[in-house]
Amino acid sequence: MKKFLIIIILILIAIGFFKYKNIIIKKIYYPKTEVTNALINNYNIYGRSFNIEGVLNKEINKNIVKDISLVLHTKEKNIYFITKYEIKDNKLLFKTNDKLNDGIILDNINVGEYYLLLNITDTNNKNKYYSLKNNTKFNNLDYYTITKNNNNKYITIKPVTYTLKNKKQYHFKLNVMNKKLPKQYYDIVIDPGHGGADPGTVDRGIYEHKEALEVAMSLKNQLTELGLKVKLTREGNYNPGGSWKDPYYINGRVNIPGNIKAKYLFSIHLNNTPYKMKKGGIEIYAPTNIDYSLAKLMADNIVESAKTTYSPNGLYKVSSGVYNRNYTKEEIKDNKDESIAKGVKPNEITTSTTYHYIIREPGGLMMKAYVDGRNPKFHKNLYCYSNIGVESYLIELGFISNDYDFTNIKNNKLGYVNGIKNTLKTYLLDEL
Ligand SMILES: [Zn+2]
Repeated sequence: MKKFLIIIILILIAIGFFKYKNIIIKKIYYPKTEVTNALINNYNIYGRSFNIEGVLNKEINKNIVKDISLVLHTKEKNIYFITKYEIKDNKLLFKTNDKLNDGIILDNINVGEYYLLLNITDTNNKNKYYSLKNNTKFNNLDYYTITKNNNNKYITIKPVTYTLKNKKQYHFKLNVMNKKLPKQYYDIVIDPGHGGADPGTVDRGIYEHKEALEVAMSLKNQLTELGLKVKLTREGNYNPGGSWKDPYYINGRVNIPGNIKAKYLFSIHLNNTPYKMKKGGIEIYAPTNIDYSLAKLMADNIVESAKTTYSPNGLYKVSSGVYNRNYTKEEIKDNKDESIAKGVKPNEITTSTTYHYIIREPGGLMMKAYVDGRNPKFHKNLYCYSNIGVESYLIELGFISNDYDFTNIKNNKLGYVNGIKNTLKTYLLDEL
């Protein structure tokens, strides 16, 4: 009788095991992919955008390719992303986009665990999926989405390796979780230009460092009211780096945005010119290789809200009020001569390197940051060789040498502040 009972119990345990074995032994799901891996040669996060670039070394018949896409794959569903590609010498080269802020927008991905795959759709609408193998020196990335309704998502991006049927397999995994933004991290950095030993431009009793700080503080308050977490690079008349020429200290304005995982940086400045201008107006400086929709919207909103104009300056102009300024050949030569005279290795600057350091340096390697510690005059930019970047803009509110701008900046700061605030509300909080 006892024996019989034991057998019954064992049978019940066995049934339970087979029924719930997926729960008892946690089974990891792997997607079915082709034997060949696609190689990832570059990946980075810039602002809210995840950018990835790679190659599939496999003979591909151009004539049967209908479409190429990157796919976020779970067992239940596929999310497809438009992918740029070309087939060259039997190789398929692919990337999320040419523009740094227009790849896969991380904030738009729902909570879940995803594999990132490359998909080739042929002319018969048949899909072939390839897993991605990391071919860079970079490893894991993590990201907090912009604070929206007091909520954030936390995203980890990991190249993973595992063995299946004695064969090494490679994948890129994205894990999206609900998690509040930790205390030390922020959404946005506002940088009031200059400060300390550097007053910026001065005209008829107006100091750039002072006006910029007032605008920045007011902007911080307005954005905080929208629920965004905002940090200023300075809150008084000092240089956050502690030294007037070195913004690369650990707490210098270049390193702050990266240290606090900010997605955006806006630097506030005032313009001045010895030339007589009939009209002043705003200039927003942006990086070269990005999509300009945020900068354009901001220029339009500031003009409307602050009752100002677009700057008449035509040099480096992208569109009304939007500019990108790179190093000129003369500046590259000067920089080289100066480096040689000082006995340091010249920086790798080209005419496609952004001129304004506050735009270039928090952007890391993909924005061609170049202060890597070789010049003893400066500390090292901590994010020089990183694959994270802060989307950075420099806003010249107006020309204090111009009478209209002078009065407007002095008396109508809220007009400028609201223009910037409304833009970020539309761009970061209202969409989706
Ligand atoms: Zn300035």
